[in-house]
Amino acid sequence: MTANVDATHASQSTNVTHTPQDGASLTFFELSACFAKLDATRSRTEMMELLAELFVKTRPDEMDKVIYLLQGRVAPLYAPIEFGMGEQLTAEAVAQATGLTVEETRRRFSEVGDYGSLAEEQIAIEQGNLTVAHVFERLTEIALTEGEGSVAKKVSLLADLIRQVGKQEVRYLLRIPLGRLRLGVGDPTFMDALSFARTESKSHRPAIERAYSISADLATVARVYWHGGVDGLQEQIHVTVGTPVIPAASERVKTMEDLVLRLGRCAVEPKYDGIRCQVHFDGENVTMYSRHLEDLTGMFPDVVAAVKEQAAGHSYIADSEALAYDVETGAFLPFQMTTQRRRKHNVAEMAEKLPLRVVLFDLLYLDGVDLTQQPYGARRAKMLGFLQDGAVLQVTENIETDSVAAIDAFFADKVEHGLEGVMAKKLDSLYHAGRRSFDWIKMKRSYQGELSDTVDCVVLGYWYGKGARSKLGIGALLLGVYDKERDVFVTISRLGTGFSEEEWVRMREHLDDIKSDGRPARVEAEVEPDVWSLPTHVVEIQADEITRSPTHTCGRRHGDELGYALRFPRVIGFMREDKRPEDATSVLEAIRLYEVQIEKAKT
Ligand code: ATP
Repeated sequence: MTANVDATHASQSTNVTHTPQDGASLTFFELSACFAKLDATRSRTEMMELLAELFVKTRPDEMDKVIYLLQGRVAPLYAPIEFGMGEQLTAEAVAQATGLTVEETRRRFSEVGDYGSLAEEQIAIEQGNLTVAHVFERLTEIALTEGEGSVAKKVSLLADLIRQVGKQEVRYLLRIPLGRLRLGVGDPTFMDALSFARTESKSHRPAIERAYSISADLATVARVYWHGGVDGLQEQIHVTVGTPVIPAASERVKTMEDLVLRLGRCAVEPKYDGIRCQVHFDGENVTMYSRHLEDLTGMFPDVVAAVKEQAAGHSYIADSEALAYDVETGAFLPFQMTTQRRRKHNVAEMAEKLPLRVVLFDLLYLDGVDLTQQPYGARRAKMLGFLQDGAVLQVTENIETDSVAAIDAFFADKVEHGLEGVMAKKLDSLYHAGRRSFDWIKMKRSYQGELSDTVDCVVLGYWYGKGARSKLGIGALLLGVYDKERDVFVTISRLGTGFSEEEWVRMREHLDDIKSDGRPARVEAEVEPDVWSLPTHVVEIQADEITRSPTHTCGRRHGDELGYALRFPRVIGFMREDKRPEDATSVLEAIRLYEVQIEKAKT
């Protein structure tokens, strides 16, 4: 065995203690043993070590499959590939494979609450010998099967797999197509584990993270890294039209003076409040991704046509904001109007009713050249140069200044015109894919008496209701934010108002679906809700202020007694379908909001 596929690259890199080998194929039994251990731990460090141990045993050509399955998928998160296997079809597959009737399976499910555990009871085999690659291929086939007869085919493919695996394997196998694997491993933990598996340190994490930020596909990054190390990533992972780049994000500062102190002479653009839209055009095909890499292409046929027309002959990737506008006056409409364009049905009708304007504020790629490593000024010059005039796409206006008064005046003008505020950008800054940095600083209009910004919180559990609420079975939510540095969720508030009765019930149903026995992995809390749920759903919260709190763990470091908490929180809308838990507000952002508020109180 052991042809060393990576000898050249390994010898060039420092600190490499492990070089991947060609060995025996990883079995699905080995992978499911890792699933079980991950399931049993709440420690992020232990998760990282368990993953690193698994990766060391994994062949380079199997690495992407292992990562996809750990994510409960067969394709990158941004690819709209789903299994299409709900509970009914799973019950049918279990019945076919075990000899139970569908009715018996459903009945037993209502007692056990998990098809994986149910099938485990019914299976005699302790250990199967299918490889990860085989299971991955069959699951992919299930996901890609469509059209006439596809339902029966999906069921029989899954039943076939069930017949060939052992107890522990079936438990996790069935959770994958149902979307219930939920091991609670975040991207940072995967990336640390990859570096650790190869170098016994986190030294390769920055290179892995860069590759991930420009390709948005951890599995492919892992495969390339496992083959060729950091050199391999640099040679093979590039900004590519059609593949989403994880968008850059901005920071906040307390005052306009601080902004100028940080950036010096800078570019200041309006901050538009619409739908972020990353536009890709390869000369023929258009693809558009949202801030969280949802595919928007089918929703915006009017923009697709304009993207082709206004930059014919070029291939490019642009970062932009799409906004509905008033056709008579040309004024941009509020976010609530634009967001009506985010739909899968009646698309053409809505395009007619609420046409979009797309304001480009950055250019990441043009005609074969990756621009993300070029300075703002150079990117902007190219952006102004390649676009033809037209009704839909336009380049954002900006001013260049180091005067607080000039920025103040620009800001006031934009707010008066209904925009959200301004975005200031460092003149020589690169495009920081996937990172929040002080090279972009946002200033938003504030609401008197309220926090200057809303907070995106992850729901961590709920309390049963008292009094009138008791009939709903839910009275309050436990909310958290994301500690990005440590890849854990910490608590920031209890929320008891803002939903209608019907919404409370819906929320309870969602949370029961992702109920956790005890505090979930990666959650740090000192309060205990009646029911814990896995960090999955994000809600947008407006609060009066942020206060220091002895109760909540947000921002509490060792030895620091006080955390941060939201005062008078209320929910905006129902749930942010477009956000993943790791996209919630971070601890550092919450602390910055607190500081901005203290500063404002002084003026
Ligand atoms: P929010 O948009 O509510 O401030 P966020 O966390 O999404 O929160 P950032 O991650 O800092 O904000 O990203 C900036 C947001 O502002 C993006 O959604 C982007 O589309 C939008 N935006 C509007 N105008 C601009 C602009 N001129 N330059 C950059 N981003 C802009």
